[in-house]
Amino acid sequence: MPDGKPAGVRCLQLSPDNRCLLMGKQERPVVCSNLRPAEEMCGKTSEEAFAYLEFLERCTAPTVVNHG
Ligand code: SF4
Repeated sequence: MPDGKPAGVRCLQLSPDNRCLLMGKQERPVVCSNLRPAEEMCGKTSEEAFAYLEFLERCTAPTVVNHG
């Protein structure tokens, strides 16, 4: 994706059956190639994987500080 992939946005290179269309190609982002799947991250279903992603999003969301 030319401007990067925002969190929570489906990658344009993800096929309808959730496979990376860039697998094995030079255009695949380094961050994607370096990511190693783990059972904790992937779960046993796409729903479990999505729930874990949402958990990570909440854990890494910027904190809003009110200096009031
Ligand atoms: S591995 Fe990277 S390029 Fe491939 S579908 Fe996922 S986010 Fe997109």
